[in-house]
Amino acid sequence: MRRFAQRAAMLTILSVLGLLLPAVAGLPAAADQEPLQGFTAAHATSERQWESKFRALPSAENERADDQRMSARPHNVGTAFDKENAEWILAQFKDWGWDAHIEVFNVLFPTPKQRLIELVEPSQFTAKLHEPPIAVDPTSSQQDEQLPTYNIYSPDGDVTAPLVYVNYGVPADYEELDRLSISVKGAIVIARYGGSWRGVKPKVAAEHGAVACILYSDPRDDGYFQEDVFPKGPMRPAEGVQRGSVMDFPTFSPGDPLTPGVGATADAKRLAVKDAPSIAKIPTLPISYGDAQPLLAALGGPVVPAAWRGALPITYHAGPGPAKVHLKVASNWDVKPTYNVIAKIAGSELPGQWVIRGNHHDAWVNGAQDPLSGQSAMLEEARAIGELVKQGWRPRRTIIYCAWDGEEPGLLGSTEWGEAHDKELQQHAVAYVNSDGNGRGFLRAEGSHTLEHFVNGVARDVQDPETHTSVWQRLRLHDIAAAATAGARKEIRQRADLRIGALGSGSDYTVFLDHLGIASLDLSYGGEDPSGIYHSIYDDFYWYSHFGDPGFVYGRALSQTIGTAVMRLADADLLPFEFTDLADTIELYTKQLKKAADDARDEATERDRELQEGVYAATNDPRHPTVAPPHEAIPPHLNFAPLDNAADALTRAGQRYRDALAKAWSAGVPDAKLRSLNQNLMESEHRLTSEAGLLRRGWYKHIIYAPGIYSGYGAKPIPGVQEAIEQKHWDEANSEIARVAQTLTGETTLINSSAAELEK
Ligand SMILES: [Zn+2]
Repeated sequence: MRRFAQRAAMLTILSVLGLLLPAVAGLPAAADQEPLQGFTAAHATSERQWESKFRALPSAENERADDQRMSARPHNVGTAFDKENAEWILAQFKDWGWDAHIEVFNVLFPTPKQRLIELVEPSQFTAKLHEPPIAVDPTSSQQDEQLPTYNIYSPDGDVTAPLVYVNYGVPADYEELDRLSISVKGAIVIARYGGSWRGVKPKVAAEHGAVACILYSDPRDDGYFQEDVFPKGPMRPAEGVQRGSVMDFPTFSPGDPLTPGVGATADAKRLAVKDAPSIAKIPTLPISYGDAQPLLAALGGPVVPAAWRGALPITYHAGPGPAKVHLKVASNWDVKPTYNVIAKIAGSELPGQWVIRGNHHDAWVNGAQDPLSGQSAMLEEARAIGELVKQGWRPRRTIIYCAWDGEEPGLLGSTEWGEAHDKELQQHAVAYVNSDGNGRGFLRAEGSHTLEHFVNGVARDVQDPETHTSVWQRLRLHDIAAAATAGARKEIRQRADLRIGALGSGSDYTVFLDHLGIASLDLSYGGEDPSGIYHSIYDDFYWYSHFGDPGFVYGRALSQTIGTAVMRLADADLLPFEFTDLADTIELYTKQLKKAADDARDEATERDRELQEGVYAATNDPRHPTVAPPHEAIPPHLNFAPLDNAADALTRAGQRYRDALAKAWSAGVPDAKLRSLNQNLMESEHRLTSEAGLLRRGWYKHIIYAPGIYSGYGAKPIPGVQEAIEQKHWDEANSEIARVAQTLTGETTLINSSAAELEK
């Protein structure tokens, strides 16, 4: 499902380690001169040779053909073509010499039975709730097989109520509504897509007393305001609708709603649908801007703040009323099979250490972009790896490739597999590398900061198809161009590694990183093309081959990038985990937390002062009245000392390990020592988790990374502290600071013991 903000720079800046490549260095030569992290000199040479053989193998033509084949018909969970794709993927893996099988989980997958949105006052209008075929786009006419537009895991409901427009429907928007004296209690809210993950919108609406929620795509965000609409351009046409899940997984857990925490096997104990916690609280339906316009145009009440106005040719009012809407939704609450394809090549020396790679294969409709642009790249990696094995390459560690099913409804296939195999994964997994959709442009890397240095090394060895420089160098220059301040540019120029972003949620890495504490990466290319077909019938081969990556050359680049990463992780003498980048990132997050606490105090102080000065009373316009915000207690100073001390100790440990390793490496590290060091390194991400998990959402065990309860996909680094600050729970912020510090101290102990072993 994962979606990025358009044109956003996903990674930025630079670190303390390693050497900068000369700006115009020829790629292979320069790459050969760089020491290969974690490899002895003898092994580095053969690794380099196998990796360059590998990178010559993925074919853009094959990716094009695979994408077209798998997107030929709609293939959401429960369809014949979903199963057919899984079986075809399985046959491919077997052909290429992999030991492969399908693992089935049975999951709750409701499909719509009844959908109705009608304006009943002051005039009548019935929403079409339908995406029409487009003549030039052949698969858009497969209307009988397309899943109707809906939000999966909306509860059934039938309500008639006044309508209120709530902008993006995030908590700050409701504070704005309070100032306009507008309540959504008993109302149906209409929110535009964007600004948060979609499931946050009905959740927040329900918390404010709304009885139903309508989601729509405003043309300002992904329609004609941006570029021409499909089929002339890539953007959302008037009747295009974004389907998608509104499962409340950030608050509870992703995966099958009926089997939280355990694999949804045939004999698993299942909750009743009515008791499943992650199902949304109020009925929710998505609509197009063609359907939204008459509803929004019928609203009265105050004109909305400037930032809330979209690009429809209307004046945007907030309501409530006179528009009154009737909304009805009912689903078939069926359990359906999901088909995960799991393929292995056993490691020759360390078969008990697993490098895991995944991308989902299910789509909302045809899904040529999401997920098949990533899936076809993954298949080319698998074919190329199979080819290398035929030529004599054997990975030292076991490689496991996973084509997940059921990602779109709520990361079902990967989560159930992760829950079903939790113990063995925690024992054997080295790392998980994910992708989802792909596109043209710049490398986007997010993930565990223990792998930041590693992923920078991989990016230096892959060539950008458009500029023929390395994808690392291209990204670095892009980030310099996009940097907002001189300070940000300076950091990019001086830091050896480009920073990678933290993972929130929104794709299949979630169970591995957040629940099992396995180091994870999520990689893709993108940023050169806007798109407005997300989760619609127009995300298909016609669209992707015209407006996505028409030559599939970035598909090939993704195969080269991730395949290189997988081979390097599988073959390294010493696993390429690195802790100075992690420590540097923790220090950065600590600064951000302090700033958030300071900002909260400054805002409350300023507001209090303005209330006393009478600012709100004096500026209130009686013709457009607003109410003053309520007085708030001034937040106390938090005690960041435990976190500062823990971060300092982590920084020292990271440097000690790096120095000890450099010294020991030149002298040669004996095999027995490598074995025990690798064991420590495999444990290093897990040390960043807490068995009890985050407060009130114990499924999430990682104390550094989690999706935001009120942002969804967006990461909330050090979530326990950050969300306590945002929600003004000051005592909890202090106790969470102490808990995070304690967890970091465990990590520091592990790193110091590894350093001590190297120093011996
Ligand atoms: Zn996806």
